[in-house]
Amino acid sequence: MLIPGDIVMSAAPQTPLMRQYQSIKQANPGALLFFRLGDFYELFFDDAVTAARELQITLTARNKEKGQPIPMCGVPYHAAENYLARLIQKGYRVAICDQMEVPGPGKALVRREVTRVITPGTAEPAQAPGENNYLAALARGPGHIGLALLDLSTGEFRATEFSGADAELRLAEELEQWRPREILHASSMPLFEDQPQRPPAGAVLTPLDAWIFEPDFARRELESHFGVLALEGYGLAGKPWAAAAAGALVHYSKETQRSQIEHVDRLGYYERGDALILDAVTARNLELVEPLLPGGDDVTLRAVLDQTHTAMGQRLLRQWLLRPARDLAVIEARLDAVQALRDGWAARAGLRATLDGMQDLERLLARASLRSASPRDLAALGQTLARIPELRRRLLEAAAPPAPAVPEPHASAGLLAGIAGRLDDLAPLRERIAATLAEPAPVTLGDGRAIRAGISPELDELRTLSHDAKSVIAQLESRERARTGIASLKVRFNNVFGYSIEVTKPNLALVPDDYQRKQTLVGAERFTTPELKQYEEKILGAEEKISALEQRIFAELRAAVALAAASIRQNAQAAAETDVLACFAELAATRQYCRPRFSPEGRLELRNGRHPVVEQLGFHGSSERFVANDVSLDAAHRVVLITAPNMGGKSTYLRQTALAVLMAQMGSFVAAESALLPLVDRIFTRIGAGDNLARGRSTFMVEMAETAAILHGATRDSLILLDEIGRGTSTYDGLALAWAVLEHLHDTTGAKTLFATHYHELTELARHLPGVVNVQVMVKETPAGIVFLRQVRPGEASRSYGIEVARLAGLPAEVIARARVVLRQHESAERRASRQLEPEPPPQMALFTPLSQGILDRLRALDPERLTPLEALNLLAALKRELEEE
Ligand code: ADP
Ligand code: MG
Repeated sequence: MLIPGDIVMSAAPQTPLMRQYQSIKQANPGALLFFRLGDFYELFFDDAVTAARELQITLTARNKEKGQPIPMCGVPYHAAENYLARLIQKGYRVAICDQMEVPGPGKALVRREVTRVITPGTAEPAQAPGENNYLAALARGPGHIGLALLDLSTGEFRATEFSGADAELRLAEELEQWRPREILHASSMPLFEDQPQRPPAGAVLTPLDAWIFEPDFARRELESHFGVLALEGYGLAGKPWAAAAAGALVHYSKETQRSQIEHVDRLGYYERGDALILDAVTARNLELVEPLLPGGDDVTLRAVLDQTHTAMGQRLLRQWLLRPARDLAVIEARLDAVQALRDGWAARAGLRATLDGMQDLERLLARASLRSASPRDLAALGQTLARIPELRRRLLEAAAPPAPAVPEPHASAGLLAGIAGRLDDLAPLRERIAATLAEPAPVTLGDGRAIRAGISPELDELRTLSHDAKSVIAQLESRERARTGIASLKVRFNNVFGYSIEVTKPNLALVPDDYQRKQTLVGAERFTTPELKQYEEKILGAEEKISALEQRIFAELRAAVALAAASIRQNAQAAAETDVLACFAELAATRQYCRPRFSPEGRLELRNGRHPVVEQLGFHGSSERFVANDVSLDAAHRVVLITAPNMGGKSTYLRQTALAVLMAQMGSFVAAESALLPLVDRIFTRIGAGDNLARGRSTFMVEMAETAAILHGATRDSLILLDEIGRGTSTYDGLALAWAVLEHLHDTTGAKTLFATHYHELTELARHLPGVVNVQVMVKETPAGIVFLRQVRPGEASRSYGIEVARLAGLPAEVIARARVVLRQHESAERRASRQLEPEPPPQMALFTPLSQGILDRLRALDPERLTPLEALNLLAALKRELEEE
């Protein structure tokens, strides 16, 4: 953990304030303490040193004059959010210590308390409203692992439990998939049994006492949070370790947030098989939510699909993208709704207009429940609830289009009607918010301007009093000016000293006897009078009461919102679902996507399929168009081998097939003319190490480990994409491994497999294995060189066209010419060699060409870009000599 050790405070002078600080600091170990002093949050001792370094703010000292300086730094409280976010981002925990009383002139030490501990997994992410911020907990029982995840900023809460030989692998995959920012685990247990050190990328580990992870403790914790029957009601019966992990999350959240977390009102138990499984490598390779190469965010599927209008919809789209459905009924219901909205242009436009401008109900509710909501937040929540009736009306319209005869039968839209039925506009709550808060509602509370007049007679009276006293003081100022003859005399206010009459130095002689000196400044003196003192007490008393009353009224309103958590969250989810379905409908209508059908026999037939991302990018202003292609796979033809020269379009073809399957299972239409698809349990995508420059650790070892995971995890119902697998080692090894992997997938696994390769030796496989089909991406040879046609056709590429591709890449003409000569000689040498081989070579062996292997390897290892023409010629001459000597 990044937190420095406990501070040593023996040297600190024991003022009452520092004693208060010390006791609060000791009660909150492991967190930076933001200690509110007036308008600042101050940090002291080691905390100050750390914060000054991390936030690049000035480190000063307190108590310098007394000889024992205390390191100190601070941030203005109104700008604290930004500084907090930066510390949390770096993995720190911060305890927020607030003043529990209004400080004022002459008041003794104010009461202070820690109101919230913010940690990486409990913070509301500042930057990414469209993403979740998960806190995870891990509970280990004998042979069992329980995992729970909570997004405290939205209230989303889920848990699962698993066991068996691959439980550790499963855990690693789950954590990769959910990407929690913070993981709670028992301090007595390592996170992973096999690799105790490795925290998953981007997560901080928070070890806690082991008793927090005991199933008995968890049961009580969950039952008191949700109500008596919680465990059975949430599918946790017989799942003690899932419950234990969930219980630890509830406990920790309540502890750190000092809140009842009312918005966490449901817990969903899930099994992994509920969703189409995409492991982390696959999600990365398909560029679902992150680009392979940094910087190109718009190349992700998410970026291209996301036309949602709300942050709630954005988050749900992302979830559906990373966890597409597997239940045919769920998928078909979504597709029906998408079709209804695609066909009903007016309904779709109306719904989208209603959604546009709806605020993030989940986050606003979470803030209400965590007591961080501002008056403006609650006002926004009220305004968003006010749109619910319109949303319901439009959903029902879309679900049942008006009577006039519809040319083609509309898809039944049961899902839309169901969503409409879950909406509740909470009219009384909404009206109460509108009636209570001033318009426009301020961002901060405490200035006495948040609550409308007429809500509380007491508040109205205090306001009149304060207002009157203020005008009395204004009158007092002009009266005193006249009485003393000091034209520059001013009545001033300051937080520490209160009201005073300020007189500049040159005028001091004119000060009357009844003035009492209060404070000396550089160029002036400040005084008070009995009359001023009296009004000061009146005003300050009234203002303090106003502030306290406003806080109380607002806290009641906030609590009323938190109490309606269940309905508000239901609205949020309904809005999110509507948003995503309407977005899919919009895409279907504007991009010529088609409704996929599902094949009970597991056939995959895409007619004129396109890559949904590539077709949106890169063709602007160019004469090239995206070329649509067919794909066909079934039980009898379950492996497709794609050969083509580099840049031919192999990788694109592979990926567009996987994306069609994935989008269909999200409930979206797909980029094709027609699509018949299997219901898939997992998609695997692997890119050969030689091709995968993006990850920086392109080792053959990684490639093989990823391939091993496929051979272990794939079933008949999986879809596998292998792109240039076997490239990370010498040709011999690579070819042999690729061959064996394909044979295994073909014979044993039976999964649908697309394999792209530039080893056209592998096309031999089709002759030996009945389920293997060869296709090629066509190129046209012209006198001026080759042209990529991007058309996929049956058959195998007859040549690899390496030299033509090199020519397109700009290799000097003389090198190209010479390479052609060498290639011809090389090919005839190969033919001679194979004639000399044994009469009937075993089929697998025929594809190796031992004679020229050394030369081939040297050619493969060579980087033409780095060669001078002369070096290239010398090299060619040397290669030729070697060939002739063999
Ligand atoms: P390979 O894997 O065979 O080397 P890629 O799939 O990476 O080739 O494609 C190379 C480039 O060709 C891509 O960047 C893309 O812009 C273009 N491309 C691929 N497929 C198509 C297609 N069907 N229509 C138009 N352009 C395509
Ligand atoms: Mg490729």
